[in-house]
Amino acid sequence: MEEKNNTVDSHIHILPPRRTRGLVRWIKKIFPEHPATEDVTPDEVLDQLRDCGVGTFFNLVFPLKEEETEDLNVWSREIAASSPHITGFGSLHIETARKDEVTERCMVDLGLAGMKLHPYVQLFEAFSPEFEPMFRKLAELGRPFIVHTGFDIFYRQTQDFEYLREMLERHPEMPVVLVHSLFPRFGLARELLDEYPQLYLDMTNAVSAVRWYSESPGNWVDAMEGRDLALNIDYFRPLIEERSSRIMFGTDHPVGMGSPAQIYDDLAWFEFPPEVNADLLGRTARSFLEAHCRPLT
Ligand SMILES: [Zn+2]
Repeated sequence: MEEKNNTVDSHIHILPPRRTRGLVRWIKKIFPEHPATEDVTPDEVLDQLRDCGVGTFFNLVFPLKEEETEDLNVWSREIAASSPHITGFGSLHIETARKDEVTERCMVDLGLAGMKLHPYVQLFEAFSPEFEPMFRKLAELGRPFIVHTGFDIFYRQTQDFEYLREMLERHPEMPVVLVHSLFPRFGLARELLDEYPQLYLDMTNAVSAVRWYSESPGNWVDAMEGRDLALNIDYFRPLIEERSSRIMFGTDHPVGMGSPAQIYDDLAWFEFPPEVNADLLGRTARSFLEAHCRPLT
């Protein structure tokens, strides 16, 4: 990664080869034309990102089984250690015993920046009492919780928003990033953002999805979140334009909604004001890293 590349991508998955193959197979089943290849290497991912101007990114992992947790967290540390421009996050599973200790190991021993959960793929409810030990530890360390939210119809799952509020209420010291910004519940995302100062949004995939919808709404109505998106679409632009200092953006590379170049093009398509684009393309993520992910002393 080169210094002249200013973009910060807040959502990348460099995973072990077996997991990458699984993810790529999954995305190709949904989007047969997707440019990803099953044997893509970490170096190729780095090159592809660099070609799009990405200089820094968040690497996100998540275990599908508890037994995978420790190896995956060590992997995340190793990927992050390969470049000063990669910020690695840890993860765990609902079956992980002593979630507070595993969280502490991630932050203190492995030097990871925070914890990420992908409850729709890991198949559990993240906003639940079972994760309180992790929330308490993150709050104690002032480290972030990054969590997948939204795309409910796509994943055929839902989340407990009442508990999400309780969690935000109970742990004001724990920064939280709602990945995909509760897509397509942009109205609720705005409400929560205004209520809880520790909250950030990540617009990964939401931007491409809104562009696709705007260009051909009919294709979305039954296939995905069409009806809910129609109800929320008016919140999208004001949310981004008025709250960009707390909104990040990433590609989900190598399994995003197209190549990274396509995804950055989707963002450009909206012609947001330059200051808003500057926030989404790096300024928010940089200040987030500075405020919440500095090395523990
Ligand atoms: Zn992702």
